[in-house]
Amino acid sequence: MNKSILIIEDEEGLRMTLSDRLRSEGYVVDLAADGLDGLKKATSLTFDLIVLDIMLPHRSGVDVCRDIRSAGLATPILLLTARSQISDKVVGLKFGADDYVTKPFDTLELMARVEALLRRRQPYSPHRVIELGPLRMDVTGTEVTVDGKEV
Ligand code: CA
Repeated sequence: MNKSILIIEDEEGLRMTLSDRLRSEGYVVDLAADGLDGLKKATSLTFDLIVLDIMLPHRSGVDVCRDIRSAGLATPILLLTARSQISDKVVGLKFGADDYVTKPFDTLELMARVEALLRRRQPYSPHRVIELGPLRMDVTGTEVTVDGKEV
C-alpha cells in the first residue's frame, strides 16, 4: 500500500511543488494550508508522515506538533523551518518532531529525510513480528521462538 503524507504548509507554491514531487514518487498526499485545518486532518485521518511548516496562520507548527503528540499520535513529523527560527526548531523537536529541514531546501534532501523517517518508524503496524528461518520474534513483546518453541 502506498504511504500517505500530510503536508501542512501555507505557501501555495511550496505546497504544490512538494505534493507534485511526493505524488510522482508514489506517495498519497493530503494538504492543509493552515495550522487549524492541519491539526484537524492530522488527528482525524491516518498518515504515515506529516510535513509541518513552523510559520502557519491560525496555529503555529510548534503548537500543531505538540497537539498531535498530546492526542497520542506517534506519526513521524518533519518540520520545515526558516534559518531565523532556531528556537522554534528546538522547541518543535522537544515537542515531538522527528526531524527538520531548513528553508530554502533542496527537494532531494527533503525526499531523503522523508524516506529515512518512513523507514525508521512504522507507527501503524502495532504488532511487529520478525521471522528469519526457524526464528520468530515478536518485537512488541518479549516472546522469541525457534521452531515454535519459546526460548
Ligand atoms: Ca509558512
